[in-house]
Amino acid sequence: MRIDPLSAALHRGAGEHGPLILMYHSVQLGAAAPTWTWAVSLRRFLSQLDFLAAEGYATPTMAELVATPARHARTVVITFDDGYEDNLAACEALEKRGMRATWFIVAGSLGSSPAWPADGRPTGKILNPHQLRQMQAAGMEIGSHSMRHQRLPALADDQLARDLRESRELLETVTARPVSSFAYPYGAWDARCAEAVKVAGYQAACTTRTGWALKDGDPYQLRRLTITNTDTTSSFARKLFFGSHDVAWRDVGRYAFRRLGLAK
Ligand SMILES: [Zn+2]
Repeated sequence: MRIDPLSAALHRGAGEHGPLILMYHSVQLGAAAPTWTWAVSLRRFLSQLDFLAAEGYATPTMAELVATPARHARTVVITFDDGYEDNLAACEALEKRGMRATWFIVAGSLGSSPAWPADGRPTGKILNPHQLRQMQAAGMEIGSHSMRHQRLPALADDQLARDLRESRELLETVTARPVSSFAYPYGAWDARCAEAVKVAGYQAACTTRTGWALKDGDPYQLRRLTITNTDTTSSFARKLFFGSHDVAWRDVGRYAFRRLGLAK
C-alpha cells in the first residue's frame, strides 16, 4: 500500500465534508489492471480497503447512512453495481476486515449472464440467490439496480413503476428482508424517476454524479465517486480528499488555482 507524499499530505484533510459513497463494478482476480474501465483488480481493491481501514474510515451500508447520516466524519459507503459473480472475493475481503458494503443487483439477470449490453465487460454471471443470501448473512446490504438495466427516463410511467416494484419484490423474496436502496442504471435519472423510486417503496437512490454523498440534501439523489481500472491507492486517496472522481493532477491543479482565487 504505497502512496505518493503529496496525495498522502492532501488526504490528511479528508473527511471534513461528510460521507462519501464509492462505486465499484467488477473486481477481477489477479494483479494486472483490467482493460474494462469499470473493473478493478482484486489486488488494488485490497489496497484500497487497507487504506480505508488504516485511516479509520467507518463503512456502513447505504441504508444505515441514510437512516443516520454521519456528517463530518470519515465515513465511506462502498457500493457495487450490477452484481458480478467476481464480487464474491471482494465480499470475503470486506468480511475479513469487518467492513460492509451495499450491492445493487440487476434482478432480472440473477444467476445468469448479464442480459444487457456493455462493451468490453468481462465474462461471468450475475450473483445467484444463494450467493446473495450468504453475502447478506455476512452483513452486506442487497439493493436493487432494476430488473433489466434499462435507462429509466426512457420508460413509460407504467413500465417504470412495474420495473421498480418487480425488482424490489424479487430481491425481497430472495433475501427475506426489505430492500430499501436503489441505484439508477447508467446513472440515468430525472425528477420523474426519483419520484417513481420513492413511490415504489425505496428509501434512497444513488446516482453517478460526483461529489459528497449528501451534497444535494435528497436521499434519492445521492452522489458517488467512481473507482476505475486506473486508480492507484494515491489517486484513491485524492478522490477521498476532493470528494470528486476527477483527480488527475491536471484537475488538482485547477482546484488549487480556484482555491487561491486566481480563477474567474
Ligand atoms: Zn449498472
